[in-house]
Amino acid sequence: MTNAGISFYEKLEKRGVSRRDFLKFCGSTATVLGLSSAMVPSVAAAVEGAAESGLTPALWINGGSCTGCSESIAQATYPNVADIVLDLLSIPSQETIQMATGEYAEQAIEASHEANKGKYILIVEGAVMTGLGGNTLRVAGKPFIEELKTLAKDAAAIVAVGSCAVDGGWVRAHPNPAGGTGVSQYLASESIATPVVNLPGCPVNPEEITAVVIDVLMLGGLEKLVPKLDKYGRPKYLYGQTIHDNCPRRGHFENGEFVYEFGSEEEAKGYCLYPLGCKGPQTKRRCPITRWNDQTSWCVESGGPCIGCGSFNWVDNNAPFRGRYRRVGQGVFGLQGGGVEPTKLAAGIGAVAAVGLIAHGFGMKAAGRIGKNAHLETETVKEWDAKHQKKQGGA
Ligand code: SF4
Ligand code: SF4
Repeated sequence: MTNAGISFYEKLEKRGVSRRDFLKFCGSTATVLGLSSAMVPSVAAAVEGAAESGLTPALWINGGSCTGCSESIAQATYPNVADIVLDLLSIPSQETIQMATGEYAEQAIEASHEANKGKYILIVEGAVMTGLGGNTLRVAGKPFIEELKTLAKDAAAIVAVGSCAVDGGWVRAHPNPAGGTGVSQYLASESIATPVVNLPGCPVNPEEITAVVIDVLMLGGLEKLVPKLDKYGRPKYLYGQTIHDNCPRRGHFENGEFVYEFGSEEEAKGYCLYPLGCKGPQTKRRCPITRWNDQTSWCVESGGPCIGCGSFNWVDNNAPFRGRYRRVGQGVFGLQGGGVEPTKLAAGIGAVAAVGLIAHGFGMKAAGRIGKNAHLETETVKEWDAKHQKKQGGA
């Protein structure tokens, strides 16, 4: 990056990243983007070129959130290539980590807004708070929804990072007195047509953002990413497969080898966690491949079921988190989908034994002979569930 006379590779070296590391990173990014290894030089060139030609203006604003997505990005354990790619964005204000406060922070946002109309990327973290006429969240003395509308209208494109920005996330969970909702739903209700890229997850993974930034660099504009989005506004290359598709415990699922309770022999053997409420079959995300904490591990690898934080309206749809869905396809709802309210969900936590029986029944009758995507909605299973209405966790 040409920054005070420092070249891109010099900057990498100053942060302990070798050219080899950088090219390795470009290789893994090319894989994420669905490109062949022949495209690795193009990925590298896109990053270098962006570094040479100046920073992309971006504004990062926070709605109703725990700031977990900011933390996820800010708490990298060491300077890595992903940090440096994110440095390619010029973000004048980031409420969680910025130095400026009060009117100085607001002035930074306003100045960048005025200077970059039509060119900047608007990054939104957190839910849009519509309750009490938008007064359930006020920023700088006015409703957050006013700031969002002003900035969204003039943005080249918007990135909704994390579940709260995508569909309301935790903030929207029943009964939702503050009126939390997602960015794309809110902007649609206001007839604001700026394209929105949705990156659901609780939190978002820094490497997911990095892949999107590099893709945008290669395409030449965030708005050009739109054809690569699925019908929910998610990049297909990040959300095209389920957790289950890539899970290392998948062989045990196929063989009908399940963990029925923590601390059991089956758990020690690393069997499938489906009876304990794993939502991997319903959740589209790359966690088994991308992993977390500098690719150290991820939920299922560390012994916990996937609770489906990458799926839509996941808090309402997936609670109780240790309850099994009756149907494997359940829980996959669209952005506007109402989902299943917690009051309609059976109490699953205490039903582990019964859940285990169901799963074992699947194992004996269906699993192991189940095709790709482990589609358990077979007639056999539906009949079994219909006869055993009380023997289930989840809905
Ligand atoms: S149900 Fe969960 S633990 Fe079992 S194979 Fe699928 S993703 Fe892995
Ligand atoms: S494995 Fe599941 S619960 Fe864990 S981060 Fe990924 S989507 Fe969320």
